[in-house]
Amino acid sequence: MTEAAMQGTKDEPVPGRHCGSCTLCCKLLGIKVLNKPEWTWCTHCKPGKGCGIYNDRPEPCQTFYCGYRLSATLGEEWYPAKSRMVLRAQGIGIVCYVDPGYPEAWKVEPYHSQLRSWARRATSSEQHVIVNVGGRVICVLPDKDVDLGHMQPGEKIVVGTKDTPMGPIYHAQRVQAGGA
Ligand code: SF4
Ligand code: SF4
Repeated sequence: MTEAAMQGTKDEPVPGRHCGSCTLCCKLLGIKVLNKPEWTWCTHCKPGKGCGIYNDRPEPCQTFYCGYRLSATLGEEWYPAKSRMVLRAQGIGIVCYVDPGYPEAWKVEPYHSQLRSWARRATSSEQHVIVNVGGRVICVLPDKDVDLGHMQPGEKIVVGTKDTPMGPIYHAQRVQAGGA
């Protein structure tokens, strides 16, 4: 569910917003048709410049846009070449892929407050805000961040709350997809 594979989208990018010198998705995301693993540079990439096989790049690369390209509500601070993070909306909610070379990038402001804000909205709709640093998964909750480590095949993330006199306390855990 937090697999870092590049997949195309039918959504249109924000007019006037471009990749420019960014090539971060070519490092963080896997390309199945190229057998390119996640978290390592594509052998065709010229980091900071672009794709060395641009005219022949595979279909997922032609049609993929990260959250920065797709969402006009994201500020320029989320430009991946600057933030060191690639945002995506996936079935689980919002996934923030962090460059393992900058593993603390998501903890820096204004990013962490933004992630926390999304988490407050996400739990109410049973969606989650997930940070993925080189495969290590952190669930960002309204009141804390929970380091869940490396997800194993067949696992999913479950978020729950416990009501207290001072308000709800959130918790997150990994469970087998068929379990509770
Ligand atoms: S991470 Fe986003 S902005 Fe950067 S190259 Fe990929 S699609 Fe373009
Ligand atoms: S083929 Fe080109 S666009 Fe696709 S990941 Fe490699 S460098 Fe990036």
